[in-house]
Amino acid sequence: MLKISKVKNAYKEIEDILGSDFVSDKDFMKAAYSRNVDPAFPDRWADIIVKPESTEEVSEIVKIANKYKIHMVPRGGGADLVGGSVSEGGILLDLTRMNQIHEINVDDYYCIVGCGITWGSMLSELQKKGVTTGILGPGSGYSATIGGGLSNATVGFSSTKYGLTPDICLGVEAVLPNPEGTIVRTGAASNQYATPFCRYGVSPDFTGLFMGDVGTMGIKCKAFLRLFPDPPYKVRRYYMLAKDDYSQVFKLAHKMRKEVGDGLNDLMVWPTILFNLLSAQVVNKPSKRPKITGPVFSVTLDATDQRIIDVYLEKTNEIMLKDDVTRPFEWQEIDLDMVLSTDWKFTLKEEFNFFQKYISTAPPKSSMTTCHKVAISRLNESVQKGVQFNINNSKEFPPKNPPYPVFASFLMFLPNGNCVIVGGLGGDNTDENREIQMNIWHKKIRHQVKYGAAHYWLGESISQSIVESGAYTPEFMQFFKDMKKAVDPNFLLSPNKFHMYSYDHDYTEHLVED
Ligand SMILES: Cc1cc2nc3c(=O)[nH]c(=O)nc-3n(C[C@H](O)[C@H](O)[C@H](O)COP(=O)(O)OP(=O)(O)OC[C@H]3O[C@@H](n4cnc5c(N)ncnc54)[C@H](O)[C@@H]3O)c2cc1C
Repeated sequence: MLKISKVKNAYKEIEDILGSDFVSDKDFMKAAYSRNVDPAFPDRWADIIVKPESTEEVSEIVKIANKYKIHMVPRGGGADLVGGSVSEGGILLDLTRMNQIHEINVDDYYCIVGCGITWGSMLSELQKKGVTTGILGPGSGYSATIGGGLSNATVGFSSTKYGLTPDICLGVEAVLPNPEGTIVRTGAASNQYATPFCRYGVSPDFTGLFMGDVGTMGIKCKAFLRLFPDPPYKVRRYYMLAKDDYSQVFKLAHKMRKEVGDGLNDLMVWPTILFNLLSAQVVNKPSKRPKITGPVFSVTLDATDQRIIDVYLEKTNEIMLKDDVTRPFEWQEIDLDMVLSTDWKFTLKEEFNFFQKYISTAPPKSSMTTCHKVAISRLNESVQKGVQFNINNSKEFPPKNPPYPVFASFLMFLPNGNCVIVGGLGGDNTDENREIQMNIWHKKIRHQVKYGAAHYWLGESISQSIVESGAYTPEFMQFFKDMKKAVDPNFLLSPNKFHMYSYDHDYTEHLVED
């Protein structure tokens, strides 16, 4: 009874601020917001869904939430795969109305955008001015937002050259979840006389507090992002390995990094099984299909001058085609509809559409993603460990659902010595399977954490699994809680993540011995 009246009171006060069009407690709205792209989770209904348009409105909502002690979860595009942007009860903050581009500064190479803007909308505007954020966002970039990218420390297209989304962030304007709804700016913008042209040097790096935090430390409303001149020359080539041998992958990737250097915009490896699945599913098959012998390298090069890109391409061919380890590959060899440009004129559409087509080889099941980063020298070992885990634990997978390993050896290379192993498990999207699936999902993440992996989107399932594995020391957990308490004294923002349920809760209850 008490809960109902406090939610009702909060609703009324929020309605006074936002107007009735941008707050809802209707069932059809709650149902619409009850999931992300993560069918492994049951649906969860928030009490109130709000759509603020400005930082000030977010601050007012936070004050009301504190007054009534109602928890909050921020949400961007809802393209999360790990239970991050849904809320059981409480207030769900849909930030997609905060989608303005406030400034594009081509002289000082930064832009200011609302955190609810999608990658697709932002990049389309930037491209008109000949600039780019470098990173082109995740595979879900037509609907995923910058706020989600910063909170999930998203890896995306061109991450080989530009790193993770936080790496292009110069600062944020965020609302702290405290009773005052404090608005802070970080980076150079914490100097109220400065523009947000750089990240470091004015104060400690408080931007980092909000990066990869999966919405636990504050509500990011504006982002200050780095810009780069958009290199007018880009080219992509594919090479298929003669054998399914990941030790070769490491050698070639290492050589590419060393010898092509700055020209290397994106380097990915697509697993053999993907081509087998794709070629089995395509409508327009080529009359004769060459044997699929191994994974395929996708190499994207960029340069400011045609002559430079020619040199990069020559070097790439020299590395890739030496000793017949790989051969050039065209997607039309398995699918006549897959016409991807081979000159420098490819567009955003190509990136996002291509990724959607690729990911849709997965049947309509629950996807339990296990994407993680490993040190590049441990690539082969980590891929083998992943495969062995599936074999050793096959009895614990949902009945009739053997591990669905399509992504298990899809790689994205990052700057320095690390790379992403994209992965996932599959199961039927049914209530009976949910618990078994969650258990094996968490177990797989714990296994990865123990071989030294670092994940990126942490949401609920991954962040909890890291805690369960015992990766965090007691000192680290205390530090984390103390930092959160400083910004969120009533513990209202994104509960459950990292197995945090209150500041008194003992996380050691969740440790699991595998
Ligand atoms: C087809 C497909 C492909 C994908 N490819 C990739 C990929 O290549 N790389 C990758 O990293 N991810 C990928 N993802 C996962 C996901 O889409 C991305 O991580 C994306 O960046 C999430 O953005 P979003 O706006 O949808 O965030 P949401 O799902 O809305 O939120 C993600 C998390 O961030 C928090 N959050 C969101 N906005 C804010 C804010 N303004 N302030 C504070 N917290 C906030 C939420 O609480 C939640 O924990 C993919 C998903 C799909 C469905």
